[in-house]
Amino acid sequence: MKRLYDARPSNIRPFMDRMKLHISELGLPNVHIQQRNLFLFQPWSTPQFHYINPFATYSKSTVAPVVFQRVFAYHRSQYSSYSTIYTDGSKRADYVGCGVVIEDIMHGYRLDTSCSVFTAEAVPIYRALQSIDSNMPRKYCIYTDSMSVLEALENYNDRCHPVVCNILDITSRLYGKGFDIVFCWLPSHVGIIGNEQADNAAKSATTHLPLAVPLSDMKRVIMHPISKLRQESWSQQLDNKLHSVKPVIGAWPVMPMRRTDVKLTRLRIGHTRFTHRHLLLGEDAPECPSCKVSYTVRHILIDCPVFNNYRITFFNSSHLTLPDLVGEIPHQNLFAFIRRLGFLYLI
Ligand SMILES: [Zn+2]
Repeated sequence: MKRLYDARPSNIRPFMDRMKLHISELGLPNVHIQQRNLFLFQPWSTPQFHYINPFATYSKSTVAPVVFQRVFAYHRSQYSSYSTIYTDGSKRADYVGCGVVIEDIMHGYRLDTSCSVFTAEAVPIYRALQSIDSNMPRKYCIYTDSMSVLEALENYNDRCHPVVCNILDITSRLYGKGFDIVFCWLPSHVGIIGNEQADNAAKSATTHLPLAVPLSDMKRVIMHPISKLRQESWSQQLDNKLHSVKPVIGAWPVMPMRRTDVKLTRLRIGHTRFTHRHLLLGEDAPECPSCKVSYTVRHILIDCPVFNNYRITFFNSSHLTLPDLVGEIPHQNLFAFIRRLGFLYLI
């Protein structure tokens, strides 16, 4: 097909082909994407997950590290028959890694730099479960400092992170084989040795783990250069009448009343029933009788000297700009002003 499309450049190429071009133009990483496994669990066997938190009553901001160490030591005395597995993830600007410490043996893995912190925290748990899978069924306690991963595991749903799904899947399989696995949260950087070891292993890993990047992580990575490119292109369009109203692209808050929100949007884009209905009716454009120019939203709100007195009444000034009135936070007297002009019900 490539030969055919090359021979006829006017033909629109398939979606996939066009996207390939964009990927190389934007310099996006070309990685394998891990998709959500939608049919991992049957509706009647939704995974049950529990974790323990021996530190629940202690706050890191008010409690000294030594207290956490003592609490942990007490917890270990209660769970002394369980072998320890510590996990941790690490993300810097150009590095993502994770660490697993299984019974004092450290393993560090590098992940693709597109992976999120969440992925870096979840993957070592999965790795740990994979590596104990071949052992004889025993008791294990898995420690992580990522509450968000534990909460995601507890609140399984159809839109779950793929690694979270994998963890739940392998855990239920291991339970079935007779393993006893306890998941436990612990605070980071309070001197718990296993956690520090996992942290070090995560920070300085060299072994690359060939793991597909979750779609949600990749979306975030892709959105950044796309928004940047879009903003750059918009910043050059200074002649566009919408540019002064919204120079920086982004979501703006909506008005609580739908009707008001619609009117505000029409003012912002400069299209109202009053200024544009002549196009539908095939009539002449309405003209300002004193200035002899076609009515535009800008002329009514900002330029027309006939309304200067009202501008001073409502805005304390007759020198205004569109962003002053209809910017991200519209002027509080905007609607009172256009009601006085008789414009409100013509929008
Ligand atoms: Zn005028």
